[in-house]
Amino acid sequence: MFVYRPFVLPLMALCLMAPPLVTASRAEKLDPNNPPKGVLPSEAKMGDEGVKQFESDKTTKMLDLKVPANKALQEKVELMVKKLGAATTRPDIPYTVKIVDNTDINAFTLPGGHVYVFKGLTDFVSSDDELAGVLAHELGHNARLHALRGQAKSKKLSLISLAAMAAMLAGGQNGANVAQFSQFALLGAMNGYGVNLEKEADSSAVDTMQKAGYNPSALVTFMQRLQAQEMRRPDIQLGIFATHPPSDERAEAVQGQMKRENIPYTPRDVEGGAVFSVADKADRFAVVMNTLTLLEFVKTDDGKARAQGAATRLNDLWKTDLKAYEIATTGNGTLTGRGQTIATPSAEDVKLNGVQTPAQVGEKWAGNFSRLFWRVQLNGKA
Ligand SMILES: [Zn+2]
Repeated sequence: MFVYRPFVLPLMALCLMAPPLVTASRAEKLDPNNPPKGVLPSEAKMGDEGVKQFESDKTTKMLDLKVPANKALQEKVELMVKKLGAATTRPDIPYTVKIVDNTDINAFTLPGGHVYVFKGLTDFVSSDDELAGVLAHELGHNARLHALRGQAKSKKLSLISLAAMAAMLAGGQNGANVAQFSQFALLGAMNGYGVNLEKEADSSAVDTMQKAGYNPSALVTFMQRLQAQEMRRPDIQLGIFATHPPSDERAEAVQGQMKRENIPYTPRDVEGGAVFSVADKADRFAVVMNTLTLLEFVKTDDGKARAQGAATRLNDLWKTDLKAYEIATTGNGTLTGRGQTIATPSAEDVKLNGVQTPAQVGEKWAGNFSRLFWRVQLNGKA
């Protein structure tokens, strides 16, 4: 499972995490550092069982592949999984991909190579690298034999879940409540052992992405945006989520690993390729990112040259992870980024910007940058 759950998981998806009925036979080796390259018989059985459970649920709907856009998405994700799967420590697992027609930001893998990607996830990511990050994480669970290794602990889970159901039934609650309550109980217990395995899957994802030619920085940008979403949605900060591995903690762990492995952290390269450009407007030149205006200059050759220079310098700084607090202004209104000059307003720019002094233009520009920065931080794009 990945991390963000707007409310609670669909019941059937959770059932997949319930105790598997099949155990690994003694002949099957369970060393995650030296895993079998292909699918184990016990994994195949677990996977088939899970597929049956998930897909037979009335609420599970797959994306309609008769729609050309859906078909294209399906083919794209299939290709990515193929590439990533070959780069894992278990390259012989034949992966199948299904896209679930559901707005949740979610994905999961069943043993045996069944990958389910929720449509909501594909809408939320801001680049293929980010999607590859989540897919690599999911394949990581498989590569590190998590389904089999989680078995001992999940026996305990089923008892908790059954006890919770029995208590609800005794209280005369209706079926929906029972299902929901057991779901919560199960989720809470799951999270008790989730931290380490989630982090292990992240770690595996970094190496897989690197090997398959994706930028692991995307794993971090994705997690940071999830974290921002979580903070915007206090309704998901329930007690049972308390021990769930927080996205920021995982993002830090991934960055630490990248540093140790000398993989450069280049977040701006994986956030949908947002760049600053110069817009030629009726009465001014503006430095913009998509639809957001950042700086405005008079419509003269000088104004154009300053706008272009500013866009170039901003792009250079942006690529190297320029932060909101690194933007400043000087007394004459010069906008600086990490101490370097980005642009200085002229007297005509003051008029154009509808303020009294160059310093006020600088402040306006800095304010625009701050808004843009946080918008990208939250949405992955301006
Ligand atoms: Zn996971």
